Amino acid sequence: MFAEVIINSNAKALNKTFDYIVPKNLEKKARIGARIFVPFGRSKKLDNGFIINLKETSEYANKEISVIEDEDSLTENNIILAKLMSRKYFCNISDCIKLMLPPGTGGANVNERVKEKKGRFVYLNKTIEQIEDDIEKGILKKENHIKIVKFLEKNSGIYGPDLEILLDISNSILKTLQKNGYIVFKNEQLKRNPFINKNIKPDKEKKLTKAQQFTYDNIENDIINNRHSKNLIFGVTGSGKTEIYLRLIAKVLEQGKSAIVLVPEISLTPQMVDRFLARFGDNIAVLHSRLSIGERFDEWQKIKKNEAKIVIGARSAIFAPVENLGIIIIDEEHDMSYKSDMTPRYNAKDLAKYITAQNNCPLVLGSATPDLDTYYESEKGIIKRFELPDRANNSELPDIEIIDLRTELSNGNRSMISYRLNDLIKENLNNKKQTILFLNRRGYSTFIMCRDCGYVAKCKNCNISLTYHKYENKLRCHYCGFEQDVIKICPDCGSDKVRYFGTGTQKLEEEVHNLFPQVSTIRMDIDTVTKKNSHEEILNKFKNENIDILIGTQMIVKGHHFPNVTLVGVISVDGMLNIDDYRSTERAFQSLVQVAGRAGREKEKGIVIFQSYNIDSYTINYAKNQDYLSFYKTEIDFRKKLKYPPFCDIILIKFQGENLKEIQKISKNIYDFLEKSINNTGIIYKPIPAPIDKIKNKYRWRMIIKTKVSGRLLDCIKYIIDNQNIKNGTSIIVDINPSSMM
Ligand code: ADP
Ligand code: ZN
Ligand code: ZN
Repeated sequence: MFAEVIINSNAKALNKTFDYIVPKNLEKKARIGARIFVPFGRSKKLDNGFIINLKETSEYANKEISVIEDEDSLTENNIILAKLMSRKYFCNISDCIKLMLPPGTGGANVNERVKEKKGRFVYLNKTIEQIEDDIEKGILKKENHIKIVKFLEKNSGIYGPDLEILLDISNSILKTLQKNGYIVFKNEQLKRNPFINKNIKPDKEKKLTKAQQFTYDNIENDIINNRHSKNLIFGVTGSGKTEIYLRLIAKVLEQGKSAIVLVPEISLTPQMVDRFLARFGDNIAVLHSRLSIGERFDEWQKIKKNEAKIVIGARSAIFAPVENLGIIIIDEEHDMSYKSDMTPRYNAKDLAKYITAQNNCPLVLGSATPDLDTYYESEKGIIKRFELPDRANNSELPDIEIIDLRTELSNGNRSMISYRLNDLIKENLNNKKQTILFLNRRGYSTFIMCRDCGYVAKCKNCNISLTYHKYENKLRCHYCGFEQDVIKICPDCGSDKVRYFGTGTQKLEEEVHNLFPQVSTIRMDIDTVTKKNSHEEILNKFKNENIDILIGTQMIVKGHHFPNVTLVGVISVDGMLNIDDYRSTERAFQSLVQVAGRAGREKEKGIVIFQSYNIDSYTINYAKNQDYLSFYKTEIDFRKKLKYPPFCDIILIKFQGENLKEIQKISKNIYDFLEKSINNTGIIYKPIPAPIDKIKNKYRWRMIIKTKVSGRLLDCIKYIIDNQNIKNGTSIIVDINPSSMM
């Protein structure tokens, strides 16, 4: 017997199969998906890989497979999926396989793996501040020590031997850190359980409304009959979508099957998981990136051993090793986090369509503001659409008002907060109600310019302007993190008329304090959400300590339920609209509708204020009326005219590197070739610098093709890229329907 084997490596040259002899004694264990060890190349060490095919003859095989490891084996379906992904997303099969392996075991060296054991656990013993302080003062300075401590900031409570393996460190280093008080060891029985200390009241099923029942019955039918179907549940926030998910999952369990539920990373909060725990007890595994590697490994094992039949997770949970899949549910299906922006650049929604078809089971997508592509497919009948027009608990949708900032300006209001919003905040403070203010920019000022010569302070690594952070009194680049001291004198002309323009969350917070001196505020953006302040902690604090005003970026938009919030202010809608991306209007509309959904979710009716300089834009007006359908119709017409998805696919080919000449040469080669092969089947644009044309000292160019993706085209692109003679480390990335065009 012979095996076709893929070596676990991300080297492009190794993305092909190698034939090996399967020795007699391993024939029983040899199957497609098995993890194996083989001699490869000149290295003395064995390499690891996977069997992706078995056959009776081979012209090339001359070496034998040495070991077959049972523990990490994949299924044949996994391998089929990995092959498909490799072709579609321009990556190695082994890159895809890694996503399907237990967390912490995908490394090229299989001995580096997280293990399931009893024993000693390592905890961080100092606060983040103390540690930062020690590093600053030079008390903590060994690179290895800092590495360990930094790792523990996120993974405190990790199993000791796992830590040693993952960071490649010795036990004696840990002992030193213990002696110096940075870490402590605790002996514990193993079961890293993210639900520990939970005490949740069981929750009973609700009697479904007519619309819910109709939706449920239809999809239930597919579950019972093992039938693949694609469904969209289109319903406003609070219309009872989750209740339908819970009932469908109950049905799936009754059939002895398992369920995968995907939610956006950021809304995967304890409150959200609690709803599932309340209904199903701990028959649940949770997978997301905020769990430690050990926890993720354990959750994975729970699924594999069939101890948990419901998987709730972010994007990558689509690869959870469930047997006998009965349904995939994707909540907030329009969310951009389902598309990966790292290799492999997969779209979990596309894969979910494929996986549910493979498993003869339904796919359920839910949203109040579906992805335009999804809604379009539901119009074409490719996806079945179910509508839940009303809120399940009959709470009213909020009143939404649009405020014209031009009028404010001409009335002499130079503040970021309009008179109307100001009054409403005051009223809310008097009534002890809470307010949320949303601004899509963090920091203090968005750019710094010399009034005399027009000089703008830019990052020296990236070609974008630096943002002023007042509290730290620094200028910071939001792309690479570069920081420099504030400038007062223009470096170009020597003028002292250097001024700050634009606004960010920091400035908004300061302004709120100026306007309302007694107010308590809490801010949530990438700068305040750190290791010690997870976004959950900030939101809990806002809720539990009844802080008056929450100020935040995009992060606050999703999934939370604050009973006491009756006012939401969107400080600048314009900042969301004018982004160089064909989906910016769609995203803005979705955010506005969602943000409005944060107000008045209980008995009291909420008020929402949209502030804008451009009050005639259809996006704002349809969002005000919460009118998805009109928005959809307007937007889909634009897409059709301009040839954007869903009327074609966008293939973005990105070139990055330090050598501009090489980028220009290679991109031209690729363009010339593809222009011929595309011919009249689409539009190909010449390579040009990306909107942000330099990040971290690397030039960024790109080329766009608008066409329907076909297997032939994918092969052409792969062929021409593989045939470039790259000398200076230029990288070429192909992203199909990317989540960001920047
Ligand atoms: P969505 O997922 O669409 O935001 P949920 O399923 O969370 O909506 O429902 C919103 C609220 O209404 C929840 O508190 C839920 O318990 C309640 N609810 C949902 N369906 C019903 C029903 N049929 N009867 C009574 N309450 C319901
Ligand atoms: Zn100047
Ligand atoms: Zn930068």
